[in-house]
Amino acid sequence: MDFELNETQALIVKSAREYVERAVKPVAAELDREARFPLEQLRGLAELGLMGVNVPAELGGAEAGVVAYALAMMEVARGCASTAVTMAVTNMVGEVITSFGSAEQREKYVTKLTSGEYVAGAFGLSEPGAGSDPGGMATTAVRGDGGFVLNGQKQWITSGSHAGVMVVWARTDTPEKRLGNKGLSCFLVEQGTPGLEIGKHEEKMGLRASETVPLTFTDCFVPESALMGDLGAGFKVAMMALDGGRIGIASQAIGIATAALEAAIAYAKERKQFGQPIAEFQAIQWMIADSRTELDAAKLCALRAAQLKEKGEGRFSREAAVAKLFATESAWKICDRALQIHGGYGYVKDFPVERHLRDVRVSRIYEGTSEVQRIVIARSALE
Ligand SMILES: Cc1cc2nc3c(=O)[nH]c(=O)nc-3n(C[C@H](O)[C@H](O)[C@H](O)COP(=O)(O)OP(=O)(O)OC[C@H]3O[C@@H](n4cnc5c(N)ncnc54)[C@H](O)[C@@H]3O)c2cc1C
Repeated sequence: MDFELNETQALIVKSAREYVERAVKPVAAELDREARFPLEQLRGLAELGLMGVNVPAELGGAEAGVVAYALAMMEVARGCASTAVTMAVTNMVGEVITSFGSAEQREKYVTKLTSGEYVAGAFGLSEPGAGSDPGGMATTAVRGDGGFVLNGQKQWITSGSHAGVMVVWARTDTPEKRLGNKGLSCFLVEQGTPGLEIGKHEEKMGLRASETVPLTFTDCFVPESALMGDLGAGFKVAMMALDGGRIGIASQAIGIATAALEAAIAYAKERKQFGQPIAEFQAIQWMIADSRTELDAAKLCALRAAQLKEKGEGRFSREAAVAKLFATESAWKICDRALQIHGGYGYVKDFPVERHLRDVRVSRIYEGTSEVQRIVIARSALE
């Protein structure tokens, strides 16, 4: 086991940190306040190769690996959680098309995602009636003349109106013969395809500069070439993508919690009560110590899962679930303690910790809730 970063990883961290300090962190509060999509920041990330960190260079990616991706995600989330989630989904879409797409699909879409020509990609799995149980989805894709006709609704789609391409799951089995998870297939749908309608932007508690929209497909025709992977193999694609995605969300939570802890430490050294900085009270020190410990442990779990994925020697579902569960639950506590250390000032928008607390909350929900992660971990422990 080697805890040293290699040259590529160190370079990715350095360039991500420099860019975030200069162009992302200073505008994060404003983006949040105005619920403004971070177009400029995402273009900057693409220029640095951060929209395809683990994508091969021949497709325009940085080809820097999964550990580098996790580290870059931590850096970006430390500056702006909304920008980070948009980056996370775009990286996930680029990777999933790289892994499961045809040569033509890879060439057509991945290069546009990595270059920033498409400012984002989207991942269309959840539906109004199918969240934790994607096998219960109702969107259908029926084979027609030269392609498929999609009908149904998707819910909570990150970057849905900005994405150049969306990975969309739909049922390709029939009402007469339902095949459960084996009845799902995966399609690549371009923005602007007739029959695809983008719904009202969700008014979210946090991650306000990221975009979350419902999608409606009404007799939406996609050509045969839009099918990604085999017919009926969509569930496997989704599960494998989510295993990797969970490393991204664990890293996002770690980045947010790092920002919160840094803010708490700075405040505790400055704020005086009873004639001394509050950092000198043991109660405050213990909160900082607990946060530091949980953050380190979360980082180790996330990087272990990232390293396993990078090795490519098999599934890493349990390690990814452990990382996501521990990192997101800890990050929530760390952000809450940071707010507590700020006293009343933590509760107002003059300080960043209330934003960190709002932003981090959803990491316990998306890409599999904490309960779903526990199911994955328990299943693996008990088998
Ligand atoms: C801001 C945001 C962005 C998102 N982005 C995307 C995106 O880009 N693409 C996408 O496809 N989806 C996206 N999602 C959807 C997200 O992945 C789902 O919200 C999540 O999977 C949970 O599904 P649900 O909301 O339907 O909750 P439900 O599945 O209805 O769960 C409700 C509660 O029941 C619990 N529960 C459910 N089943 C079990 C069980 N078997 N055992 C114990 N407890 C259980 C859950 O843990 C939860 O506490 C996003 C969501 C949000 C809020």
